[in-house]
Amino acid sequence: MSISQLARSIAESPTFALNEEARILREKGEPVINMGIGEPKNKAPITAILSSAAKLTSGDIKYTPPDGTPGLKKAIIRYTEENYDKLVAPENIIVSAGAKQSLFNILFTLLNPQDEVIILAPYWVSYPEMVKMVYGIPVIVTPEDGTFHPRMEDIRRLVSSYTKAIIVNSPNNPSGELFSEEFINEIVAFCEQRKIYLIMDDIYHKLVFDNRRAPPAYRFTNQDLESSMIIVVNGVSKLYGMTGFRIGWVVAPRKLVEIMYNVQAQTTSCTSVVLQAAAEGALTGMQSVVENLRLSFENNRNVIIQELRAFNGIKINKPGGTFYCLPDFRAYCPSSIAKDSVELSKFLLKKALVVTVPGKEFGMEGHLRLSYAGTIKDITTAIERIKWALDPNSPNEIYIGDRKLIRDWL
Ligand code: PMP
Repeated sequence: MSISQLARSIAESPTFALNEEARILREKGEPVINMGIGEPKNKAPITAILSSAAKLTSGDIKYTPPDGTPGLKKAIIRYTEENYDKLVAPENIIVSAGAKQSLFNILFTLLNPQDEVIILAPYWVSYPEMVKMVYGIPVIVTPEDGTFHPRMEDIRRLVSSYTKAIIVNSPNNPSGELFSEEFINEIVAFCEQRKIYLIMDDIYHKLVFDNRRAPPAYRFTNQDLESSMIIVVNGVSKLYGMTGFRIGWVVAPRKLVEIMYNVQAQTTSCTSVVLQAAAEGALTGMQSVVENLRLSFENNRNVIIQELRAFNGIKINKPGGTFYCLPDFRAYCPSSIAKDSVELSKFLLKKALVVTVPGKEFGMEGHLRLSYAGTIKDITTAIERIKWALDPNSPNEIYIGDRKLIRDWL
């Protein structure tokens, strides 16, 4: 069978693969704890359900304009004004099937073959694959000081005349790191000066802890939106716990949106009118939904940090937002148990029935991404199991479900 080389070179999504493995184990009755999945566990906001149900029962389920319904766009304009202090026009907005499609559409629209995109490690797994899919070259910038916070000096060194865009995701998946105001200010100025697009993946921007706020890039520019290099990506998946509704959007200069409109019109036509109605319901409904999620993640963050700090050899940076952390497991990997984070993650699933995501996938070998979007009980039990599997100083017996297990590999 002849298959495109490019398509074949695209890596499997590790989080979806792990989820599937966990699902199969759970179906077999295994008490798996999923610390891999990146989604809140809440039910969808009632205003989202009512709004989509009303649309559905109307029976009037047709195509919408490729860039989104006027109602949802109006809600996004209000959202942008309230959260970014920025007035935008309907022509600056395009709605897509999740922020994922938004990002792909942006990259498809911006890049010529061989153009480079700066990606800051640790990075969301899909960025490099998406850049490759549009024949671009991902250029990974890893902070050389060993932290999770990017540094302008590292970025400057890798920017070339082929650099078309830089992707910034703060707070960050997978580290939870919230980037400083100083950094956002500097990167905005740098991109404007060098005429490089700054793609702000703001999908977690309201899930921030310790009374801090994610500084919006717009705050640091004097340019009007039409001449700005800033592109903002957002969506309802994480803030409202609506991953299954598949609604994301982009705010960008009109010229760019016009092209993205054509790309979308020729590919997906539009996202579902029912799901757009749901997103409109979420954005115009009670915003305490977002605050409640944020508070529960902050509480979960505090618990997981406490548990991990009591774990021999593990180093952990306190996340400033999201529902992820990226502890350093290099004390246990490489080791006799696992040569790298992929093997370590497999080992933990097999022995301790805990799903984690290998740091290798995010450009941070020796680390594991743990999602703390679940319950406190999930978090404490998962860390107890991981400790049992790895730390020779922990008790060598454990109950997993109703089975008593004995550690015999250390
Ligand atoms: N950006 C980042 C950093 C993410 O973590 C995700 C989801 N895991 C997305 C974008 C895509 O979100 P969605 O397509 O569900 O809106």
